[in-house]
Amino acid sequence: MVIEPAGFCPGVKRAFELALQTLKEKDKSVYLLGDLVHNRHAVVKLQEEGVQFAEKPEEIPPGATVITRSHGIEQDTIQKLQKRGVTIVDTTCPRVKKVRDLAQELEGKGYILLILGNSEHPEIRSLLSFLKNRPLVFKTEEEWSCFDFSPFRGKKIAVLTQTTFPRTLFEAFLRWKDEKWPQVVMEVFHTLCAETETRQTNLTRKIKEEKLTTVIVVGGQKSSNTASLFLLAQRENVRTVWVEGWEELTQEVFHLSEKIGIASGASTPDWIVKQVFDWLRSRSCLGEKA
Ligand code: SF4
Repeated sequence: MVIEPAGFCPGVKRAFELALQTLKEKDKSVYLLGDLVHNRHAVVKLQEEGVQFAEKPEEIPPGATVITRSHGIEQDTIQKLQKRGVTIVDTTCPRVKKVRDLAQELEGKGYILLILGNSEHPEIRSLLSFLKNRPLVFKTEEEWSCFDFSPFRGKKIAVLTQTTFPRTLFEAFLRWKDEKWPQVVMEVFHTLCAETETRQTNLTRKIKEEKLTTVIVVGGQKSSNTASLFLLAQRENVRTVWVEGWEELTQEVFHLSEKIGIASGASTPDWIVKQVFDWLRSRSCLGEKA
């Protein structure tokens, strides 16, 4: 069975369609600056449509068009592109942008920001680039549990999360904070994306309801929300396999007794999920209910 929602999330779908539309309309060079989304198949599809790749703004010729990534773009990159006379098609997901705007607003109101997320992820790199001060950023329990909050007593702290941060970790942080630092007041802003949350909730629910024995997580190796799905399924003690496409399944052995569910990251194209489903069905791995 395919666990819904599957395929592109609304933000990635929007970014992908904007990119396709730009490629159709422009007769000039169109560049991707970094991966549009964290999925090789989606990027290859755009390459087939004629997009060119650049890692740095300096590689893009003046007069060209650049499609920026759905995770957001860093402020100094925007300035560099504008200086080069490059047309920018900004595909930043509106939900990502909303968190960025909120962070700026809270900083303006004098809050110290505490962000739960990965400071190396493009979404957080973009967010940080729009702030005046460096906030506290924690990615793991190990990172926050050894942090000394005593200098922050009596200060205004606002807690925000990367849109794709795992809810279980977010809740673990709030529990830890209440136990260890009850005297430090933090205002918590709920900025997890409902789309990724629904995927995580439905995955655990389906594993239990359908008594799944195996979960195949389909998504790019750099996709943090795909990683969250993978870890979640592993924690439920089912056989968990992470692939980018059906080709990688050929190395796996599946038994008829296994009950398989297919979950997908928010940047996984719908057609890749279908290919995985079709491949498993063609090998009679999904049973009659599939
Ligand atoms: S997961 Fe949510 S925040 Fe991220 S691109 Fe998709 S809709 Fe936007």
